Amino acid sequence: MYPSTASGSAGEVRVRFAPSPTGHLHIGGLRSAIFNWLFARHNNGKFLLRIEDTDIERSKQEYTDSILASFAWMHIDWDEPVVIQSQRAARHGQIAQQLLVEGKAYFCTCSQEQVIERLSKNPGFDPNFIKYDGYCRNKGNKAGALRFRIPDDIKAVDFDDLIRGHITVGIDQLDDFILVRSDGTPMYNFVVVIDDADMRISHVIRGEEHIANTPKQILLYQACKFILPQFAHLPVILNHDGSKLSKRDAATGVVEYRTMGYIPDALFNYLVRLGWAHGDQEIFTRDETIKYFTLDHVGKKGAIFDQQKLDWINGVYIRALADQELLAIIRKDVCPTILDDLPRWHENTILLLINIYKQRAKTLKELVADIKALYNEPASYSQEDIAQWITPTTLKELEEVAERIKQIEPFLEDAISNSIKEFAKIKNIKIVAIAQPLRIALIGKSSGPGVFDLMAVLGKHETINRIEKLISSINK
Ligand code: GLU
Repeated sequence: MYPSTASGSAGEVRVRFAPSPTGHLHIGGLRSAIFNWLFARHNNGKFLLRIEDTDIERSKQEYTDSILASFAWMHIDWDEPVVIQSQRAARHGQIAQQLLVEGKAYFCTCSQEQVIERLSKNPGFDPNFIKYDGYCRNKGNKAGALRFRIPDDIKAVDFDDLIRGHITVGIDQLDDFILVRSDGTPMYNFVVVIDDADMRISHVIRGEEHIANTPKQILLYQACKFILPQFAHLPVILNHDGSKLSKRDAATGVVEYRTMGYIPDALFNYLVRLGWAHGDQEIFTRDETIKYFTLDHVGKKGAIFDQQKLDWINGVYIRALADQELLAIIRKDVCPTILDDLPRWHENTILLLINIYKQRAKTLKELVADIKALYNEPASYSQEDIAQWITPTTLKELEEVAERIKQIEPFLEDAISNSIKEFAKIKNIKIVAIAQPLRIALIGKSSGPGVFDLMAVLGKHETINRIEKLISSINK
């Protein structure tokens, strides 16, 4: 059914991403997937997905569904049916048997406690480095955990990592590791090799946290007479303080980015730059990333997760999208009830507001919050802004502006702007000296979008109401 040795057609690039469905796809996993996908697309190769669900207790179908949904959302496609690792148990068993028969693996009945007890008698015993002592190697056990027998004639394992260069690991760093537990469940290092070989993977591109596994896997490739793929280990993603990216410091689940209103292409663009560079270019179309992506521009050093930069890139993508498209994304991912939540406003008003607020938005969630905040008159005013911008004279001017507004017809941005500018001229004040108090009246604070735009959207009646409310709240 399967080839006894894995062999891709000469030169064909075949890469894979192999998540364990024990949680939602996280940002580090997505970055690894993107690098694999780009490597495949750049080389006209194949990008494959394998769900590594052999940890039956922790694996859940809902996580598999969620991981696949995240890929669909990110527009990352794969080229062959998804491989489900647990469905390949018979093949894994066949290789286990083969290694046993060939004497390349043996059954071990030692418990972890027994191993530690024996090791602890040795001078210089390090409890942080438990290395199996080979106790069962020649016992001929008929059952137990299946261990790999590290060949006696090997001194070191070495390989050329496409990112990190030549790596050598002395055999003293390795032990006869477990392939299959005594309860029959296979270990990651064992099945990953069989599956990668059968899927004819040419390049294993994965996170740096797996680098310690690679020598074990190479020994297994050799024992099974499989063709070795090339390896590339991607730098880890770090926080600013150099610690590993954790939930405490950033949203780590891809689904969270979706509901926060990140544009998938923006997240893609940001993650591509996290560890890879093409000169100092920051914004890429997908076609450009495919064209430029090579592993020799992936750095060795940990890549620092920069939320501000992600937000900046997201803002760029938000502004590039049409208001209709943004509304569709909002309704799909961020706030499905937006139209019902703002019943006084017609869809066109909401589109206008999207246009106004997108000029400054970092995320669509923030944009929705801004629009919702505008819907009702301010519940309170920034006292700091009032202190800075409003004097008794300003209050009188606001009253006059409210009167003036009644005359503006049609109540559109241009006419409003002309009228207020004329007012500032007559009063010999700067426009900002009246625009800021107006903005405080409309939204409760002096920072926000263009005040004439806001007035036009709110309409004459509501604008006057809000001005009068501010005046009376200060006069109280
Ligand atoms: N299932 C492993 C993980 O999620 C895959 C590691 C690999 O790519 O070899 O970390």
